[in-house]
Amino acid sequence: MTADGFSQGVLRTLRQVLPADHSISMHEPSFAGNEWAYVKECLDTGWVSSVGAFVDRLEADLANFTGVKRAIAVVNGTAALHICLILAGVEAGDEVLIPALTFVATANAVSYCGGVPHFVDSELHTLGVDPKRLAVYLTETAEVRDSGCYNRHTGRRIKAVVPMHTFGHPVDLDELAAVCRQFRLELIEDAAESLGSYYKGSHTGNIGRLAALSFNGNKIVTTGGGGAILTNDEALAARAKHLTTTAKVPHRWEFNHDRIGYNYRLPNLNAALGCAQLEQLPGFLANKRRLAQSYAAAFAGAEGIRFISEPGFARSNYWLNALLLDEEHSGQRDALLALTNDGGVMTRPAWNLMHRLPMFAGCPRMELPVAESLERRLINIPSSARLAEG
Ligand SMILES: *Cc1c(COP(=O)(O)O)cnc(C)c1O
Repeated sequence: MTADGFSQGVLRTLRQVLPADHSISMHEPSFAGNEWAYVKECLDTGWVSSVGAFVDRLEADLANFTGVKRAIAVVNGTAALHICLILAGVEAGDEVLIPALTFVATANAVSYCGGVPHFVDSELHTLGVDPKRLAVYLTETAEVRDSGCYNRHTGRRIKAVVPMHTFGHPVDLDELAAVCRQFRLELIEDAAESLGSYYKGSHTGNIGRLAALSFNGNKIVTTGGGGAILTNDEALAARAKHLTTTAKVPHRWEFNHDRIGYNYRLPNLNAALGCAQLEQLPGFLANKRRLAQSYAAAFAGAEGIRFISEPGFARSNYWLNALLLDEEHSGQRDALLALTNDGGVMTRPAWNLMHRLPMFAGCPRMELPVAESLERRLINIPSSARLAEG
């Protein structure tokens, strides 16, 4: 088979699954529910800003949906991660273990705390942090003392691990939690991509001490921009609310603030959108699962490429679908990206690995063979919920 024939075969297979539209994007939001009504209610009542009934309702609905005790709505997922890290005790000079294969927000949030991202490798099936290899690496690299876990090479404290549930596929959280206990690390989940994803029956965000969600425009539900902090710890939830509300001490008229806080609250307008979106989440999840099943079936017999399915222990939201080229075909990735995008089917490679970005090039990292291989071979394909409808 020629290189061209390979790319054309993949495009034909994608076209079998997708509707006959002229142009198909990666992920578009759908506003077929109560979005108009709820946003109108904000405008009619004047409650558009940082306080309002939809904020309270969104937080309650999120807690209800995820089974996590408390949710705190914030302006975006990056801000949620920032606050999670502060509350987990990450301080200036601390290292935080994060996957090299992630969106830049995970690394940025560590930097906002004055922390140093420390990059770890991925596992081939979950695409996320590999707990077994992390344990081996930490045994060589880290030393556990009374005051915590320390990097033998840099002398810095390693405070936390932030696994990311890539494209909605959960990492092996039980195994990772065991590594965290062994090395005295805080576990914070970057669940920005995994609203609606379950690990062994429990929603992602339940096992970490804290977790971050994102409601950016391309996520499974959107508030325009937005995010949330999840935690099962009531005291942490109260601190999260305080810290994201400029650390204002509640009072009828006094402006008293007891520390440097952040104005990270989600406006009621955005929360209104979120409430309407959450009502439709079960439908989005069903459609996305159907689309993923169609892709899996269509690519089942394909040569040189496979569809990435959820790990055995998980039920994934299939937020973004992905194909993985065999190593022998990785050289054809760019030709395939060009042909599909020219042909009206949007495809994208995975993110550049974090240690390749100039601001993170000097950060510590373990060997990253799997992340580097995934970076060469991964292709995201159209994933909007509506694509399963027709
Ligand atoms: C989207 C995303 C974020 C942050 O989201 P914003 O709401 O855009 O700030 C963080 N981490 C990952 C992995 C994401 O995909």
